[in-house]
Amino acid sequence: MTVVMSVPPARAAFRSLELYTPDREACAVDLSDNTNLWGSAPSAVSAAAAASLTRYPSVYADGLRDALAAYVGVASECVVTGCGSDDVLDSAIRAFADPGDKLALSDPTFHMVPLFAKVNGLRLRREELTSVHDVDDDALLAARARITYLCSPNNPTGAAFSRERIERIAREAVGVVLLDEAYVEFAAASCVELVARYERLLVVRTMSKAFGLAGLRIGYAVGSPALVAEVTKARGPYKISAVADVAGRAALAEDREWVQGIVQNVRRARAELSLELRLRGLETVPSEANFLLVKVGVDPVELAKRMRGMGVGVRAFPNVRSVGDAIRITVGPREMMVRGLEVLDACL
Ligand SMILES: *Cc1c(COP(=O)(O)O)cnc(C)c1O
Repeated sequence: MTVVMSVPPARAAFRSLELYTPDREACAVDLSDNTNLWGSAPSAVSAAAAASLTRYPSVYADGLRDALAAYVGVASECVVTGCGSDDVLDSAIRAFADPGDKLALSDPTFHMVPLFAKVNGLRLRREELTSVHDVDDDALLAARARITYLCSPNNPTGAAFSRERIERIAREAVGVVLLDEAYVEFAAASCVELVARYERLLVVRTMSKAFGLAGLRIGYAVGSPALVAEVTKARGPYKISAVADVAGRAALAEDREWVQGIVQNVRRARAELSLELRLRGLETVPSEANFLLVKVGVDPVELAKRMRGMGVGVRAFPNVRSVGDAIRITVGPREMMVRGLEVLDACL
């Protein structure tokens, strides 16, 4: 006899929640997710292969935290790690906001943050960027939100926000300010030193992009010891696997020059791609990241689909506020860029 039992209702905030489903069938040249197309930090790869798996990892990954603190140039008690910076963002939101509280962010920005806001039962307030893709500090401050999320360089525009505006938000916000610097290695400057002056500011970073370790899931954040202590509680134990722990430490110890080389490659490839696009009459947002947001005069979803059919993945951004219809292209080695442009030309 089969007993059919219905599933009890999930928490209220989950009822309208959907699974995260990026349009990501495999393709020959994937320029769609801003990962490192030159590869992974080499010492991390060898350390990962040799990792011992029988024992539990360090509870709060203190060794990795110390290495990240040295990399950034702050004390260890100013750093918290997590399972990707996604997890660090989610943990910070959970630590500092109750269900029903408000999270303010710019539009457009990193698509995962509205998801974390929703999972945590928060209300969203989206504020348009300025005409030069900078953060609207007046509008975000007026929201008086428990959490204010800033992303600089911003995904998907690639533009960095001005330091004066970031600093003003850090100084005047009533709640916690999360500054996502996932792409900071490719940018002209970081704002991480502001954490020494503003106790409510948490700068969130990752080893997924410049270090090429997205598969390992290593994120971290830098902030005042009091702020970091709360995020560490919310993040919980054992979030860094034994493999990520040894591999991340190896990369920080031995692969910094490799990362510098990647940064040079990205900056060169970004300038070249932007020029090629301009020669085709396509406008791009000035980028400080490893991708370009390109304004297109056609339906970007249809364009991305056709390009993927020809083996090149790009990400469609229909109707982006203050930009219009656009696609986002990750920059990579020359042969990938050449193929990407051939397919773009064929599809436009
Ligand atoms: C890619 C990206 C991240 C990185 O996320 P991980 O979870 O660390 O892989 C974080 N923030 C932004 C804006 C990103 O684009």
